[in-house]
Amino acid sequence: MTFKALLIEKKGPTEVTASVQELAEDRLPAGNVTVAVEYTTVNYKDGLCLQAGSPLVRSYPHIAGIDFAGTVENSEDPRYQTGDKVILTGWKVGELHWGGFSQKARVNADWLVPLPKNLTTKQAMAIGTAGFAAILAVLTLEDHGLKPEQGEVLVTGASGGVGSIATAILGKLGYQVAAVTGRPETSDYLLSLGATRIIARNEIGSVSRKPLESEVWAGCVDAVGGEMLARVLGQLKYGASVAAVGLAGGVALPASMLPFLLRGVNLLGIDSVLYPAEKRVRAWQRISEDLPLEKLDAMMQMATLADVPLLCHQIIQGQVQGRVVVDVN
Ligand code: NDP
Repeated sequence: MTFKALLIEKKGPTEVTASVQELAEDRLPAGNVTVAVEYTTVNYKDGLCLQAGSPLVRSYPHIAGIDFAGTVENSEDPRYQTGDKVILTGWKVGELHWGGFSQKARVNADWLVPLPKNLTTKQAMAIGTAGFAAILAVLTLEDHGLKPEQGEVLVTGASGGVGSIATAILGKLGYQVAAVTGRPETSDYLLSLGATRIIARNEIGSVSRKPLESEVWAGCVDAVGGEMLARVLGQLKYGASVAAVGLAGGVALPASMLPFLLRGVNLLGIDSVLYPAEKRVRAWQRISEDLPLEKLDAMMQMATLADVPLLCHQIIQGQVQGRVVVDVN
């Protein structure tokens, strides 16, 4: 029994290769559920995993792919039966454990979530880790009191994966969404998803001399981090929160303490990888209710396993729009 996968092999201290290969099933890692993968996706972190010397990947040969959806082929866990449709995101799958750039995956049942009834496996992966993190950001902002009548919510890195899904969810929930993008050509796309205003990246992308600016945002879903996040903190309304999801613009945070001390703003971290299993079903349920599924088509581009290396390079360069769904078969 064999399956196709994108195998990353180490060729030297600074070189890896990634190629589609036919592998024997007995090479799959330990786990109590085997899944016939249908779709996986390309996330920013997948781009990092395919880079030579990536600190995320500990051993080679490796199969990356931090999320997938498919059908249970074999289960030694009573919670899952052959034929069940499942989703996996996070748990360091695709990093420490072989992941979704593959027709087969063997994983721990604790890491799986049953596919919500109104989603297909393809739609689930159009959402993927980026969309899962986006709903966690929205839920966290809501838990801290965010409501549509409080004013505009900012989404940074808006035309990327996290940003596109966050824009669509917030739009459907009735928020005014100000979408920050460095690609003006994506404006119509963002407006079609639910943005109500487009903000050019350079208007907000660097630290201001003033640590406190006019209070503009009722909340923020931030996929960019770095100087942009520091700037946003100084523009939040009194008591408002930013959900920090990503670092596409940089890992350092050159921020001032003043927004915290004088305006009581909140910086809320979002982690989708080790997010507790028992809360994941609720999060997926909210995605399936609050994301306008008809907008997924506009966000999604289809790819094959062979396309993944180039797409991984492009996502790190900030050149991918929306979500890439990989049909592994
Ligand atoms: P994408 O590449 O799809 O989106 C990132 C977007 O950020 C780009 O499309 C671009 O949007 C903007 N951007 C890129 N480079 C810069 C820059 N130098 N300065 C300012 N803006 C920039 O990635 P994802 O949406 O998949 O992921 C976004 C971030 O979220 C990543 O850092 C990722 O690791 C993180 N993430 C975190 C998760 C968590 O659990 N916390 C889960 C999933 C993702 P535009 O062109 O519109 O400006």
